[in-house]
Amino acid sequence: MKSTQIIEPKLILVIPCYNEEDVLPETIKRLIIIVENLIEANKISINSKILFVDDGSRDSTWKIIETANKSNTLIQGLKLAKNAGHQNALLAGLLYAKDYSDCVISVDADLQDDLGVIEEFIENFKMGYDVVYGVRKSRSTDTFFKRSTAQSFYRLMKSMGVNLIYNHADYRLMSKRVLDHLGEYKEVNLFLRGLIPLIGFKTTEVYYDRNERFAGESKYPLKKMLAFAFDGITSFSVTPIRLISAVGFLMFIFSFVIAVYIIINKLLGTTTSGWSSLMISIWFIGGIQLVALGLIGEYIGKIYKEVKGRPKYIIEKNTFAFSEAYEQDIKQFVTIK
Ligand code: UDP
Ligand code: MG
Repeated sequence: MKSTQIIEPKLILVIPCYNEEDVLPETIKRLIIIVENLIEANKISINSKILFVDDGSRDSTWKIIETANKSNTLIQGLKLAKNAGHQNALLAGLLYAKDYSDCVISVDADLQDDLGVIEEFIENFKMGYDVVYGVRKSRSTDTFFKRSTAQSFYRLMKSMGVNLIYNHADYRLMSKRVLDHLGEYKEVNLFLRGLIPLIGFKTTEVYYDRNERFAGESKYPLKKMLAFAFDGITSFSVTPIRLISAVGFLMFIFSFVIAVYIIINKLLGTTTSGWSSLMISIWFIGGIQLVALGLIGEYIGKIYKEVKGRPKYIIEKNTFAFSEAYEQDIKQFVTIK
């Protein structure tokens, strides 16, 4: 059997940074040690890099990256023209890095994720896994609020039919071919955690402890967190639209029950004139309107799926490789014609 094992994969670490001057010098120091050790131990190629993506920071983040690059060529930087948001900055780094590497690991700048498991990521990649998800063992370092909101978020997403890896954020390894396919997803509303499982291939999980932020403040205040969760749901699920139809249908059925109640009241003579017809109309028309809205929504949902233009399938293997001779034949055939 032909061995497909890559002996020294070229690794690029991608780190999105937004106003991270407080933590960046430490992050750079620690990442250099880790990558240099991996190179020395022959676990990764000497051409591996650490790529910082400055997401339009207003502090000295870019200066720090530039200075680090001058003293160590392991460190590279990409500066976005303005703040594009965590997911976009990450995508920029990933799609840039894929052309210069065999695998890419994305990690936050704030040292919350345990960098010690990077080696395990690489080992799994060498064993043939295309995606290695970093999964937090527990959420004990989170505040009660963050923990419970995060858990309800995963539950809600699941009920809406969105496939997410539980307790996994954006700390993961991806192979070059996964990133090539990620580039085929043209959507503008990015929710990478939902997209990667859609791609497929062999995946595995590595468990780690998540620390508190080393320095600086979270760039995800509640408002951004809610917007992120809402984006996640509306980018992956048309269930909210279906809910409109369901409520409309229930109201429509209910209007018949109400009608019976109203007619009984009318027969008993306990109603004022005009009340019965008015009541029945309100429920009946209300139900019909919601059903109609839901129906329109169903089409909008379909349009939404179409405009995203996601790939419908991804081919993993192919035995139908054109041999050189065969290609030659085709060329000749074309010229004769
Ligand atoms: N980040 C970014 N652009 C933004 C917000 C955040 O690139 O607009 C980066 C940030 O520098 C960090 C990562 O995304 O490296 C995750 O952000 P943070 O640690 O603040 O999020 P939390 O861990 O609190 O959810
Ligand atoms: Mg963080």
